[in-house]
Amino acid sequence: MTKSIPHNSVRQATVAVRGGLNSDEQYGSVVPVITPSTCYRYHEFAKPREFDYGRKANPSRSLVEETIAKLEGGVDAILTNCGMSAIHLLTVALLTPNDLVVAPHDCYGGSYRLFNSLSQRGLFKTKFVDQSDPVALQEALALKPKLVLIETPSNPLLRVVDIEAITEVAHAVGAIVLVDNTFMSPILQQPLALGVDIVTHSCTKFLNGHSDLLAGVLVFKDQKLADDVLWWANNIGTLTSAFDSYLLLRGLRTLSARVLLQQANAQKVVEFLVNHPKVANVYHPSLPSNIGHAIAKKQQKGFGSLLSFELAGDPVVMPKFLQSLKLFTLAQSLGGVESLICHPATMTHSGISAEARKTAGISDQLLRISVGLEDINDIIADLDQALATIA
Ligand SMILES: *Cc1c(COP(=O)(O)O)cnc(C)c1O
Repeated sequence: MTKSIPHNSVRQATVAVRGGLNSDEQYGSVVPVITPSTCYRYHEFAKPREFDYGRKANPSRSLVEETIAKLEGGVDAILTNCGMSAIHLLTVALLTPNDLVVAPHDCYGGSYRLFNSLSQRGLFKTKFVDQSDPVALQEALALKPKLVLIETPSNPLLRVVDIEAITEVAHAVGAIVLVDNTFMSPILQQPLALGVDIVTHSCTKFLNGHSDLLAGVLVFKDQKLADDVLWWANNIGTLTSAFDSYLLLRGLRTLSARVLLQQANAQKVVEFLVNHPKVANVYHPSLPSNIGHAIAKKQQKGFGSLLSFELAGDPVVMPKFLQSLKLFTLAQSLGGVESLICHPATMTHSGISAEARKTAGISDQLLRISVGLEDINDIIADLDQALATIA
């Protein structure tokens, strides 16, 4: 890897662009080769090479892991076949039946379902709390959790909590702190530098950025913990294919450019929606009304390209509005180059009971947007014409 990334102090855009470049010794190809082989020839009796079997490690996967670890400022990373399998892997590696997980009450719907269903099976315990409420957080921490999950900004309301402050109190009771950094990407937020132990991403989103593969990652600050989790990754088999690893590395090259331009586009969408009479509330960390705006200014390098808003008036306008959109695609992902819109109550958060959705503040009028890289004038014109169709 020394040749592909010049040295440790280079900046993130450089790390992302140059990850894995010039790693081919055979032909000197600039772009790394894809290594699909599942097994590797021994040098000779009792002399294995760096790689021996593909479930444990693969050269194409390792290049991505090193690049993402560097982007997050970690010592090591484990790439998994999707974001949920990364979080699942960590629960398998860390938790026994008496261990408690403290997770945000408004965490990603899939994470909520995973923690809930595995707890119901008795594999560990979970307590969901509003981490922006210091009393609720202290009550949960008094139960001495083994793992605390932080997700900020939250999905879909983009509420921001203080990573450094929560990590400090969680560490005081001996917990391991995991941050789901999917919504920000390492370009806009680096949780390990704020004291966190492990960062996870759904690489399916911004890190790949092209909505054409699923992958997840865990990034570690501590090599021993990384090695323990890697043992479990090999044990249960959670890892990404060489082809997907290659595609992900290619997507990563433009991460910095994509994230910054998507963010600039999103800021203009926020300005447009905030002033629109048919929009009731807009949620984006850039807005002083947003929960955690002041914290976002301090802990993030930008406000990101995800936002949500509520349509004003009668809920019956929702289908009409969504059908009128011509550029936005109704789909439940985010972070790709294309603009997507999602109705959390029937899509991303439909696995959560109506009551839990209400507690988390997710109304039937709420829409989440992932702003893409299309021309900003076209993005706004599409929202404008669709809003004009509703009463
Ligand atoms: C999508 C997502 C996940 C799950 O990732 P998959 O790749 O879909 O398994 C986890 N956390 C957040 C915040 C996400 O957006």
